[in-house]
Amino acid sequence: MLRKELEISTFEDLLYHYPYRYSDRSQITRIGFIDPRTEYVQLIGTLINITEEGAGRKKRLIATLYDDTGRIELLWFQGAQWMKRSLREQGRYLVYGKLSVFGGVVNIAHPEIELLGSETAVPGRQPVYSTTEKLKAKGITNRSFAKLTQALFEKINVGDVPEFLPATILNHYRLCGRYQALKWLHFPDTEEHEQVARHRMKWEELFISQLMIGRLRLQHTAQPGWHFSKVGDNFNTFFKEHLPFALTNAQKRVLKEIRHDTGTGKQMNRLLQGDVGSGKTIVALMSMLLALDNGFQACIMAPTEILAQQHLFSIAELLEAMGISVRLLTGNVKGKVRKEILQELADGTLRLVVGTHALLEDNVQFQNLGLAVIDEQHRFGVGQRARLWSKNTTPPHVLVMTATPIPRTLAMTMYGDLDVSVIDELPPGRQEIKTFFRKDSHRAKVMQFIREEVDKGRQAYIVYPLIEESEKMDYESLMAGYEQVKVWFDENRYRIAMVHGKQESGERERNMQRFVKGEANVLVATTVIEVGVNVPNASVMLIESPERFGLSQMHQLRGRVGRGAEQSYCILLAGSKISDESFRRLQIMVSTNNGFEIAEEDLKMRGPGDMYGTKQSGLLKFKLADIVLDSGVLEETRLAAQQLLTYDPTLSMPEHQPLRYMLSQQGQKSQWGKIS
Ligand code: ADP
Ligand code: MG
Repeated sequence: MLRKELEISTFEDLLYHYPYRYSDRSQITRIGFIDPRTEYVQLIGTLINITEEGAGRKKRLIATLYDDTGRIELLWFQGAQWMKRSLREQGRYLVYGKLSVFGGVVNIAHPEIELLGSETAVPGRQPVYSTTEKLKAKGITNRSFAKLTQALFEKINVGDVPEFLPATILNHYRLCGRYQALKWLHFPDTEEHEQVARHRMKWEELFISQLMIGRLRLQHTAQPGWHFSKVGDNFNTFFKEHLPFALTNAQKRVLKEIRHDTGTGKQMNRLLQGDVGSGKTIVALMSMLLALDNGFQACIMAPTEILAQQHLFSIAELLEAMGISVRLLTGNVKGKVRKEILQELADGTLRLVVGTHALLEDNVQFQNLGLAVIDEQHRFGVGQRARLWSKNTTPPHVLVMTATPIPRTLAMTMYGDLDVSVIDELPPGRQEIKTFFRKDSHRAKVMQFIREEVDKGRQAYIVYPLIEESEKMDYESLMAGYEQVKVWFDENRYRIAMVHGKQESGERERNMQRFVKGEANVLVATTVIEVGVNVPNASVMLIESPERFGLSQMHQLRGRVGRGAEQSYCILLAGSKISDESFRRLQIMVSTNNGFEIAEEDLKMRGPGDMYGTKQSGLLKFKLADIVLDSGVLEETRLAAQQLLTYDPTLSMPEHQPLRYMLSQQGQKSQWGKIS
């Protein structure tokens, strides 16, 4: 039962089932003096009149508890039968529970109830654990947990809970021992001890994660990589003769960093962060030319077919005059053409390839892949990065590019094994996108505005939320929205395309292309257009029900406009009933165009799991630590991990053996095993 409900199957699991708060159970209230305004009360009394009432699903158990000052009713709606059997008429009980007031009379539903024996003591400060309704119905209450844990602590001592943090660390960071921490965490005698215990366990969690990342990083840096010794003709000719604009300082700086990395003889693993439109593609392209100059092949991998096509198109155009050929390899490239491309990659005739996940398939073999660029990383798993590395005996240099700005604390935990470059400067001459918040009552005006823009020859996106849990409803509102858009945009004059996840991929592709090619004026869509799509003529982004989007996600969407010379607009069209909190969030969108600021806010409000789809990854699964609230501890553990790995990189010193063992255990539990 415990196992099924809470995944507790060993004593150890019980030890790590931490309480989430504590209740004060030192007070006993006399029944006649209960103040109906208090939340929880603890009583001692005699139980009488245990009776079942109602029938079927409405069946419930009622009993009366009395002492010499008064009486109160106790109620059970679930597990009535089971309770009835276990309660004793005329028994003296210790009762604890939440008061509810019903028709002016107070009662307690589902109290914790315990027969008073001769040695039962008033509990005092009690840990409160998460349990489930099912467990409660079977009488396994919070109090039973506390008793179990207490009994456990009576059986074990320091020796049973081995310490694995080295003494030097414990001393230096003033952390309490592991056994002590666990004991205090369950049964703190003072609030201060609880804090000390909590701090220690958080510290441990974060330290372990930082050690794992640190070791991964060491593995990378120890990894020999291709040596790009020179900057040659491809790079120089492109830079001098074909670059259509001057590079921004940020772009130049990042290119320098990449040149440095690839010239060391070690494998590069670099994360390139740059807000939407900051010009990452050209950096990728020039890095690939560098690979070519040194006799290597290069590839760029995008998360979707559309994005891969766009990359192919823009890269081919930029390289046309130089006579460098580039080809596309995606799932849709089949038959003879595919065979030809595979052949050319294997024998080295083809030096440059653009593709999707298809590039990762086993039958794609390169003659000598020197650089792999991964665009829009967050759609690729860490595991996929690993697969690229394993394609050759010497792994290619890897450049990961993302337009989702990653707050520092999160980058430290998720991408701590990568070096980070940031393009923090937009190309000159960009017009700032104007963002407005409007309520549904202004819909007519908003639509009128969009129509005027379209009449000037621009294109517009209209985006609807689509969230898996409510997929059916969202889908219906998307369809309803589509019908409504058709009312505003007369079919005889305007062309509307629609894309969403339920379309078969070919159809979606075709609709998207109609918009990309300018054949459709308006694109009605779900978030499938989120990443990377480049339609410079689009100047309006309308987001429906923006309160249902994450801020970073909206920022991505907004980045789809403002790519051309025209003034662009983003309109957040909210329903009439939005909460103050939502309103505040949407104001952040209106007030800033800075992706990093937005990401920080998002992280604070939604937590990391939601934001980057990392919930399943195990990378950010902390029991106690919160990378936002505990960023100070995170920073501390990062330094501590770095220091430790500097003087014992392989964790082979005797005092580090327990730590090493702990890491191997953790590695098995999470995805980490697959990474390295
Ligand atoms: P992202 O970082 O979002 O991938 P892109 O690489 O698609 O951005 O670049 C966005 C647009 O900016 C492209 O049209 C590109 O040609 C242009 N661009 C990139 N760098 C510069 C620059 N230094 N000066 C002017 N325009 C630039
Ligand atoms: Mg891009």
